[in-house]
Amino acid sequence: MNIYLDNAATTPLDPKVLEAMTPYLLNHFGNPSSKHGPGREAKNALENCRKTIANLLNADPEEIIFTSGGTEADNIAIVSAITCGKIDHVITTAFEHPAVLQTLKALNKQYKTRVSFIRHDENGNLDLKHLEYLLNTNTRNLVSVMHANNEIGNLNDIESIGELCEKYGALFHTDTVQTIGHYQHDLKQLKIHYLTASAHKFHGPKGVGFLYCCKGQRLNRLIHGGGQESGLRAGTENIPGIVGMTKALELSYQHLEKDATYIENLKHHLINALTEALPNITFNGNSANPDKSLYTVLSVSLPATDIDLLQYLDAEDIAVSGGSACSGGAPSHVLKALGADTSRNTIRFSFSKFNTTAELDQVAEKLARVYGLVAA
Ligand code: PLP
Repeated sequence: MNIYLDNAATTPLDPKVLEAMTPYLLNHFGNPSSKHGPGREAKNALENCRKTIANLLNADPEEIIFTSGGTEADNIAIVSAITCGKIDHVITTAFEHPAVLQTLKALNKQYKTRVSFIRHDENGNLDLKHLEYLLNTNTRNLVSVMHANNEIGNLNDIESIGELCEKYGALFHTDTVQTIGHYQHDLKQLKIHYLTASAHKFHGPKGVGFLYCCKGQRLNRLIHGGGQESGLRAGTENIPGIVGMTKALELSYQHLEKDATYIENLKHHLINALTEALPNITFNGNSANPDKSLYTVLSVSLPATDIDLLQYLDAEDIAVSGGSACSGGAPSHVLKALGADTSRNTIRFSFSKFNTTAELDQVAEKLARVYGLVAA
């Protein structure tokens, strides 16, 4: 049996999403920029999706810009803030995804923007007093803090961070790639200027996402060409992808409470099963704290072994990861920032509504075998 526990890397497409996309792949294939019937049909679908997504997040349709995914949305947000918002100081965290950290690094060379990192404790909890200290300067500040970390699952208090940004007149960008579709976001309440999302993290298709840009903030185009997305993002829109993403988001919010409770129980079950089966197991960051971490992610630290646990589990048809899929196997900057003991094994389990407790019991048993605690 194949066991897939790497849902923070990507989630399987919900069959209902495929069903919604299929007519837009086969029959309604028009280009939304064309003025004829098929074009108008595609344009209608596009604008309906924009309205639906905006409604689900309590935003306005013109605040939603479709992109190729989370990475592009993060890039547009940060570049726009720095160029249009004339930012000279970016405040961020050591835990951000490379889509943020590498963008900042590249822009730093070009614009000489100063970057500061918010202090954190040994579990990765951000020190908001330090954020306030960093904000209390004469610079034009952008704060870029993710809602939840993709490797250890730590949740950040984006409500309080937004309040602080408002108090000090800073722009606030949050990467919500791991939380959109898993938590409610009310964008008329939260003080956020830019927010980013990616469909494949909530059972939608890959290669499509969106940027929310609060009214009044100007955006800088990264891709030059036609006038699509109000001139902000050139290129023929990915209509089947956008339709699929919208359906996936609708389904996520329709079943949010039920699915969240189910997945939270899965996580709890695995924590118990692993703790019982394995000695000397610890959890990275706030991973095992239900109030301070994503219910979809559990990052486990296990004693060093001679065998590569990820390869061993892969050979047993169990898909997990050591951290971020985007790191390409490089040592984790997140674990390094936490000061974690890198001689130990780290496994990131990440769950979806399609997992079962029986799968988790199998995983715990397989791991116990490695450590010689179950007869082979
Ligand atoms: N931000 C976070 C927190 C992520 O986990 C990811 C993907 O793993 C991304 C951004 C990039 O999203 P995409 O794969 O859609 O480019």
